[in-house]
Amino acid sequence: MVEKPSNLFEMAQAQLDEVAALIDLDPGIHAVLREPMREMHMSIPVKMDDGQTKVFKGFRVQHNNARGPCKGGIRFHPQETIDVVRALAAWMTWKCAVVDIPLGGGKGGVICNPKEMSTNELERLSRGYIDTIWEFIGPDRDIPAPDVYTNPQIMGWMMDEYSKLKGCGMPSVITGKPLAIGGSLGRNDATARGGVYTVIEAAKHMDIDLSSATVAIQGFGNAGSYAAILMQELAGSKIIAVSDSKGGIYNEQGLEPHKVVQHKADSGSVMGFPQAENITNAELLELKADILCPAGLETVLTGENAPRVKAKIIAELANGPTTPEADGILYQNGIFVIPDFLCNAGGVTVSYFEWVQCLNRYFWNESEVHQRLNEKMTKAFQAVLAESLKRKVHMRLAAYIVAVNRVAETMKMRGWV
Ligand code: NAD
Repeated sequence: MVEKPSNLFEMAQAQLDEVAALIDLDPGIHAVLREPMREMHMSIPVKMDDGQTKVFKGFRVQHNNARGPCKGGIRFHPQETIDVVRALAAWMTWKCAVVDIPLGGGKGGVICNPKEMSTNELERLSRGYIDTIWEFIGPDRDIPAPDVYTNPQIMGWMMDEYSKLKGCGMPSVITGKPLAIGGSLGRNDATARGGVYTVIEAAKHMDIDLSSATVAIQGFGNAGSYAAILMQELAGSKIIAVSDSKGGIYNEQGLEPHKVVQHKADSGSVMGFPQAENITNAELLELKADILCPAGLETVLTGENAPRVKAKIIAELANGPTTPEADGILYQNGIFVIPDFLCNAGGVTVSYFEWVQCLNRYFWNESEVHQRLNEKMTKAFQAVLAESLKRKVHMRLAAYIVAVNRVAETMKMRGWV
């Protein structure tokens, strides 16, 4: 057991170690799961617009494929490191297992600054990335997706490059593609929608009437803005506060999410929205709201502010918003936390649907996607809740137990250990 993790991957290993001790995990399985199954380090030459060739460092980590092909995004980030990619790949293994989809965990990254690159340079980098790993990915091996600073267009180029190398169209190699080349309906709001389905289940468990509940959301990007819209549309709740990197807005009578989206599109921030008072991001976290939804940054709920959190339910749409110290405090205070890799698993679940649709070459309508997403998220939530109640542990630990047990069982059945 690592006493004090020095990087994100050591933290991921420490989390696994804690669960392994609790469930008496077979030492062989534990040893396998502590390390990535395979990792690739690439040097990708790209001809830049000025005629010079620049070499970019890239990674692809395949953490575990016991339950199915690896699945995980590709990040384009100037500060990308192999340890971050390793940790995120491991977390994808647990995320896919907790929602019970037949996929393993993977992640990729390239050290680059997309904001300083032209569209043509980005296209050459995206194609170059695939050129270096294409033999190790594929619909039955490893299926990438968008992540930080990568988008549907980049997935389109990557799918096209892979298809050219294989000599036939292969839309099932990558998810998060534009609709015209095999994307799925319902992908845009899938993360928020999946999270809202888990909030609906949590509210039933806590006996909270969502139609009279209030909601505060930190982060008003893809996940947070759709969460605001859907908490109002699907649950009838009142959104009383939202924020972005510049600050937040508050109105106890309720904010109209579509109008806030428009205001942010027009002005660049939610701040200054008419009929609302400006608040800080720190104040938002401590508001008297029934549901608190961190949907922006990591580690915003800490040992310092957790004692002042007044929400009844915390729905973690962001990855890693709560520190381990805060976790303990929130649990002691009876605050129900829906942990990130359960709460935000709607995105990967609809990615899985996209892969299934591409393999079958038969596409579903939006309400089919929503209905199947609801079934998956609800079932996953109930499995984690049952584990939490049985073992008297908080939901994060329960989610880990469910996920690790599922992966371990598959490894045993396959005779890997
Ligand atoms: P995004 O870039 O669309 O939005 C991020 C939002 O957070 C923006 O509104 C930004 O202004 C805000 N923000 C940045 N710094 C902030 C700060 N200091 N305080 C408050 N808000 C701040 O990103 P996204 O796709 O919505 O992702 C948000 C979180 O959800 C991330 O943790 C991401 O890993 C997680 N997530 C997203 C998806 C998805 O499908 N979009 C899936 C799984 C997890």
